[in-house]
Amino acid sequence: MTHATGRHFLQIPGPTNVPDQVLRAMAAPVIDHRGPEFARMALELLQDVRAVFGTAEPVVIFPSSGTGAWEAALVNTLSPGDRVLAFETGHFATLWRDIATGLGLEVDFVPGDWRHGADPDTVRERLAADGARAIKAVCVVHNETSTGVTSRIAEIRRAMDEAGHPALLLVDTISSLGSIDYRHDEWGVDVTVAGSQKGLMLPPGLGFNAVSAKALRAAETAALPRSYFDWRPVLAANKAGFFPYTPATNLLYGLREALRMLREEGLPKVYARHARHAAATRAAVRGWGLEVLCADEREHSGSLTAVLVPEGHDADKVRALILDRFDMSLGTGLGRLAGRVFRIGHLGHFNDLTLAGTLAGVQMGLALAGVRVDPNGINAALDHLQSC
Ligand SMILES: *Cc1c(COP(=O)(O)O)cnc(C)c1O
Repeated sequence: MTHATGRHFLQIPGPTNVPDQVLRAMAAPVIDHRGPEFARMALELLQDVRAVFGTAEPVVIFPSSGTGAWEAALVNTLSPGDRVLAFETGHFATLWRDIATGLGLEVDFVPGDWRHGADPDTVRERLAADGARAIKAVCVVHNETSTGVTSRIAEIRRAMDEAGHPALLLVDTISSLGSIDYRHDEWGVDVTVAGSQKGLMLPPGLGFNAVSAKALRAAETAALPRSYFDWRPVLAANKAGFFPYTPATNLLYGLREALRMLREEGLPKVYARHARHAAATRAAVRGWGLEVLCADEREHSGSLTAVLVPEGHDADKVRALILDRFDMSLGTGLGRLAGRVFRIGHLGHFNDLTLAGTLAGVQMGLALAGVRVDPNGINAALDHLQSC
């Protein structure tokens, strides 16, 4: 192992690098979570967090991973035996399917090739064919973190409306919130699922559900067992700035600071920054003579890029070499993509030179691993950064 100096490059697509000001905000004494100071902070935070979801409706915050927020979305809106429509966009969509199945839901899982997003036309067809209205929810992963493919949620909403179907729309934005344009209210999403450790630039540990009025009504009759993840006691306690259990106080300090940073930059600029870094990354990949996994120009992810390694090479060996020589972590290939891709995270607390350093490490690592790449590849990315 090469001795490492300077900062580690954490360029996996989450958890992401936590800004120093967020770390400092969290390095504060824990306060009484049933006292007035906490209530003041929570009331402000529960209001301010809505903007990043594009909603005026309540956002429930759990001390949980993103997986917990997935479960919360399902148990609060559905009943045993309910049908849900989901799409095999990649590893995370498959895990969400497994949770739904484990909870006793019937999942219509539309097969996919892990290079495309959820298809709005298929949504329209499946819902139009469901004359009995047996499908109670459509579950979509907005940004599939295993593939770097972003599904077109606005078009999926339109397809649902065109089918005139009353199913709820549940969307996982764990690796897109705060990185890729997203509008909970405008797109008529019923539950938006998110986590703290990706675009929100926080450590792992918070799960979020933004909840529409229709989802809140569904919560009144949903019959899946729920206790910890029940929205109702949380929303009731939140009215006074409290939680029905001990909240993750210091992560909430961090959230307050992260939201302040996003507000200061401005969400449209945040989204444009991510799109620009993603475009520069794809320019480098193509410059090297390699292939981006995402197969549809409309669906390239702003937060990460999955890169196919040529036949005969193991993507995990390349990653291990890059970690050893350059102290940089890249995302591994998940599920059926193991060994075939590595993933470059370019989300969160990130700038032009973070990208340049990341791509330099990738290029050197590929060459050292014996993958034939054009050594001018990185220039395409630098040209993009210089000119756009
Ligand atoms: C990271 C991620 C998850 C899982 O979140 P955890 O916090 O690890 O439970 C789920 N979905 C997507 C799209 C993700 O990127």
